[in-house]
Amino acid sequence: MNKENKSPTGRAFRNTGQILGTVFRLAPFAIPVKLVLAMLGRVGYFYYSTYILKFVVSTFEHGLAFGAVIIGVVLIVGGHRLFALIQQAGEVFVTPYISAALDRGFMGMIYDQARRVELSCYEDPKFYDQYVKVQENALESVTQVINNFVSFCSSLLQLILFGTFLTKIDPIFILFALLPLLTVFVRKKRAALEYKHHAEDVEHNRHRKYAQRVFYMSEYAKEMRLTNAKSFMMDRYDRACEGRKDVIRKYGKREMLCDYFLSAFLDALLNPLTLIYAVYRTFMLGVMTVADCVVIINSVSSITYAFTAFLQQWQTMHKLSHFVDDLNVFLQYEPKIVGGDEKPLIGELCLNNVSFTYEGSETPTLRNISIRVGHGEKIALVGHNGAGKSTLIKLLLRLYDPTEGTVTLNGQDVRQLKLEEYRAQYATVFQDCKPVALTVMENVLMRPVQDSDEEKVIEALKLADVYDRIAALPHGIHTVMTKEFDENGAVLSGGEAQKLALAHAYFQNAPILVLDEPTSALDPIAEHKMYQRMMAISENKSVIFISHRLSSAVVADRIYMLEQGAVIESGTHSELMKKNGKYADMFRKQAENYRKEENAV
Ligand code: ADP
Repeated sequence: MNKENKSPTGRAFRNTGQILGTVFRLAPFAIPVKLVLAMLGRVGYFYYSTYILKFVVSTFEHGLAFGAVIIGVVLIVGGHRLFALIQQAGEVFVTPYISAALDRGFMGMIYDQARRVELSCYEDPKFYDQYVKVQENALESVTQVINNFVSFCSSLLQLILFGTFLTKIDPIFILFALLPLLTVFVRKKRAALEYKHHAEDVEHNRHRKYAQRVFYMSEYAKEMRLTNAKSFMMDRYDRACEGRKDVIRKYGKREMLCDYFLSAFLDALLNPLTLIYAVYRTFMLGVMTVADCVVIINSVSSITYAFTAFLQQWQTMHKLSHFVDDLNVFLQYEPKIVGGDEKPLIGELCLNNVSFTYEGSETPTLRNISIRVGHGEKIALVGHNGAGKSTLIKLLLRLYDPTEGTVTLNGQDVRQLKLEEYRAQYATVFQDCKPVALTVMENVLMRPVQDSDEEKVIEALKLADVYDRIAALPHGIHTVMTKEFDENGAVLSGGEAQKLALAHAYFQNAPILVLDEPTSALDPIAEHKMYQRMMAISENKSVIFISHRLSSAVVADRIYMLEQGAVIESGTHSELMKKNGKYADMFRKQAENYRKEENAV
């Protein structure tokens, strides 16, 4: 372990510095503005709480005119109020800008990284937990780091102001003010308890939040009504709440004792001691004026308050440092799937003896697969559920890399190609595609709208055979999808949503079209039409598609049949039918089923 990691204080300072540095980069004015506002508040409070008292009491002590007292009070109070006005106006008008700039900046960094990390990270519970924690708490924690730093500085200023003031009257009072140092041990204990409490609570809270999500998210609305899922979820929710109660029981008593000790220390020890000593010096020894006596009692509590706050902020800085550590682990994670420097050139796409095992899995999902997709060829992947077809597609798209073997494009290992550019060679449609809450046009574009887009969008919708349906919507291609933000938003059927996703894929006009059961929600006639049309418009494109209905594989130049992660047959439809193997068997069984269904109708 290096020296840096040994010192939590060093790490806390470094982490705070790191966040402040990033904040400065994102919103250069944020910290200076917040510091000035907070300092104004503290300086105003100092003058208000010391000089007004001292002034009033000493003018009466020296028998000054009542009118002069009033003018003096008005000036001091007016000055204080002016400072407060500037501070409050700053909080109302400037703070929201700062929050917005930081929100955009930090979340932008987090989402960029979330997009960079490979898919397998989402399947690693520890990593996913960290991601959820970081993205849920980022803005709040960053704001806390800034506020804590600002409060830390202003508490320091308050200590200096009141400290200087007290030293001038009687330095002994400084010792009173420093008495809270004796509570440092209890404060440390309290912070450690809070950290452990929070750490143990996280898991229960995650389960609680998951159950909450299932209750309110529309994806689960049907199951919640039609199955017994509610009682399962409620059980889970109850267990999470019980778990949280156990954690409170475990730490609550000790936390309460620490808090009680800290407040009793001030109320029962420090404040009465100061009072007795000040009264003794003023009235028994006669070495202090009444004005100083009154002011000093107030000032000692102010300095104690500032000092206690200072210690608190010191601890908060350590506590927030854990968040910064989490943030760093997430942001500094180096994705394993990275691109090379080469530019992808379109050509033959091959899987060469590819095997793949999911992390945590004992058996390989793909075994020694070799597949060739010549430029412009139409390739179908068929096989039973779980055969490994979707996994193969994910390997092509470099969502995962093979455990063994290579994927090559135009003879080049795809790991040597620029990742973004390589992925841009593909237009993809998955079976579980869902429109996002934007207009139809934006769903087709998936980028900001430009003037010349409308015609091309309509053409893509026509090619996907969904334009008539869209044109009938109240605002045509400008209709908003889903009812999430617009009560008049359009809700598409599963098949229509798949067609909309196809329109997006057509619009992309990429050289390789990848379709993972894109027609699972279409009826056989619509599916047949869709495949005919797709083949016609993708003349110069390679198409790789998975379809559970073998009748659509007939149009492919070559069919690969997978079973338990291996290619067991390949060839054209007629070759495979002649071979009379598993493909032919599956094809006949499906045809038979359709015939039976038709007869039944
Ligand atoms: P298909 O598309 O042919 O239905 P898949 O490629 O989806 O098959 O799945 C192949 C096998 O890999 C299945 O046994 C499935 O459970 C497993 N699998 C799929 N995704 C994951 C994953 N993320 N982690 C572990 N196993 C997975």
